[in-house]
Amino acid sequence: MTPSDLAFDRRHIWHPYTSMTDPLPCYPVVAASGSRLQLSDGRQLVDGMSSWWAAIHGYNHPRLNQALQTQMAQMSHVMFGGITHPAAVALCRQLVAITPAALECVFLADSGSVAVEVAMKMALQYWQARGEKRQQFLTLRNGYHGDTFAAMSVCDPQNSMHSLYQGYLPDHHFADAPRCRFDDSWQPDDADSFTRLIEQHHATLAAVILEPIVQGAGGMRFYHPGYLQRVRELCDHYALLLIADEIATGFGRTGKLFACEHAAIAPDILCVGKALTGGTMTLSATMTTRAVAETISNGAAGCFMHGPTFMGNPLACAVASESLAMIAENHWPAQVAQIEQQLRAALLPLRAQPRVADARVLGAIGVIECHQPVNMAAMQQFFVEQGVWIRPFGRLIYLMPPYVIEMQDLQRLTTAISAALQQPALFHPR
Ligand code: PMP
Repeated sequence: MTPSDLAFDRRHIWHPYTSMTDPLPCYPVVAASGSRLQLSDGRQLVDGMSSWWAAIHGYNHPRLNQALQTQMAQMSHVMFGGITHPAAVALCRQLVAITPAALECVFLADSGSVAVEVAMKMALQYWQARGEKRQQFLTLRNGYHGDTFAAMSVCDPQNSMHSLYQGYLPDHHFADAPRCRFDDSWQPDDADSFTRLIEQHHATLAAVILEPIVQGAGGMRFYHPGYLQRVRELCDHYALLLIADEIATGFGRTGKLFACEHAAIAPDILCVGKALTGGTMTLSATMTTRAVAETISNGAAGCFMHGPTFMGNPLACAVASESLAMIAENHWPAQVAQIEQQLRAALLPLRAQPRVADARVLGAIGVIECHQPVNMAAMQQFFVEQGVWIRPFGRLIYLMPPYVIEMQDLQRLTTAISAALQQPALFHPR
């Protein structure tokens, strides 16, 4: 890419959460393969991000590429209204087979945020069909569910966009974030705030929505399976729907195929996205039980009121189907376990560093929480100079590499983090 391309980008193109007047620098990537990104000047960076949880099999995977080419030769897209096609049927068969048995009905959507909108609309329509006015949701502080309006309304009220859109977002209930860590011993009082809120408000709640075990963009926190078990018990007790947002955690990232498995529970509605296509195309799915689907369908509307233009896009379905076939070959548990072991060995000792408030690892996710916020532009540049792609935010420097990463490459990532912690200029004052 030429300097003029980069100048055009800076002047005209919005990037995620970026200013148009003072954007952070963007690095030109022209190719990606395995766990490497290639910059336009030829430099190769080891990828520590999997493009935000998505590229689990690595980039430019020949099997995923072949699935796209084969589908493209048939058709790239066709509307899903009144039409079905083999790629959607194959994918939904696989999804129904690998998720909890009760989740039989699949809604295909375009992105994670839309999957969450769909899940929340399903809960609202479910109660409407039962003749009850229930329009509130109970969720957890430090949660993150996406950037569209309904999804935003259940993101953490402090470190999200609630204040910006005040008056426009519906009010929901927020239980204290779980404090009991994944590998601590379970403290039942951790769920007290959640228990109080559900006791008080269950009659007006449409559903509980949460990220199981890993709270991602809201703080990269790993909480105890006991919390999730308690939530499931309380939802059963009050006959409330439980929506599990596995958009980040789904497909092996935490060491289980789905994070709910750590607590041996099943949700009533499940959202998946991101790694669903192996990070190749945008696609998400919201799955629910026959009972929920039938109730909605027997309601006044007679159907579920959602139908995006690109619903069930054949290219996205075909590549997702191949990604799930690769997951089914079951190499990922050993790959994730090996990444976990190496992340633990390299990152947990960094707890002794003065800038480090906490270090934690679960599955193929490694997190360094610092005392000070990172200087994003400076730290990103430092990492690029070290030949790695790591994008920190706030006080967090974290890794979630492709499952296929070589151990030497993973070591380059953890060494770069270790080196960054020695550089005062990469941090803002507290
Ligand atoms: N839920 C969770 C848990 C997520 O991590 C994300 C994305 N970071 C979303 C929902 C939204 O997904 P998308 O960005 O594809 O809309």
